Amino acid sequence: MNDQVQARNTSAGLTIWLTGLSGAGKSTLAALLTDRLREQGQAVEWLDGDVLRRNLGRGLGFSREDRFENIRRAVYLAGMLNRHGVITIVSVISPYAEMRSYARQALPGFVEVYVDCPLPVCEARDVKGLYAKARSREIPAFTGISDPYEAPADPELTLYTAEQTPEECIEELISWLTEHRLYPM
Ligand code: ADP
Repeated sequence: MNDQVQARNTSAGLTIWLTGLSGAGKSTLAALLTDRLREQGQAVEWLDGDVLRRNLGRGLGFSREDRFENIRRAVYLAGMLNRHGVITIVSVISPYAEMRSYARQALPGFVEVYVDCPLPVCEARDVKGLYAKARSREIPAFTGISDPYEAPADPELTLYTAEQTPEECIEELISWLTEHRLYPM
């Protein structure tokens, strides 16, 4: 086993946890970051909220308990990937501070990134047409409209997607990881 492989296997792992409102830019940034890190030869997996719900969260709704259970499953998977030296990018609304602190204590290499975008901007983007449905009450318990979003009080990094391009956000994130010696692994 060469030194680099050994270093990976013994490292604490790295999970980049993107939290924010629907439409804030989590998936856009996660996709770009995944591509960028892969180009640089890193082992990376991206766990997206919608994909997780489709594959591991069937039957789960949007009550606080179900949202928490969805996060618990994502954390379990991220931990498993981390143990195999895979950088894991998780893009999930994760609206409650309690669920993010659960992820933080469960994952040694946890980096919380607040994808910050004002609600009116997210609503104007309305990427999936969900805000319109939430306003008309067709969708109940929609984060930011009829369900809470507890903004992170002390994230490792905040990215302002209403003020910067996705590429600028990714540059900032990779610089932060590099400065804190979390990347490259
Ligand atoms: P989420 O995954 O948070 O629900 P999406 O990534 O699906 O959000 O949608 C975000 C939308 O905002 C996309 O249409 C994207 O092109 C746009 N956008 C504009 N600026 C940014 C930025 N700096 N970062 C991420 N997305 C941005």
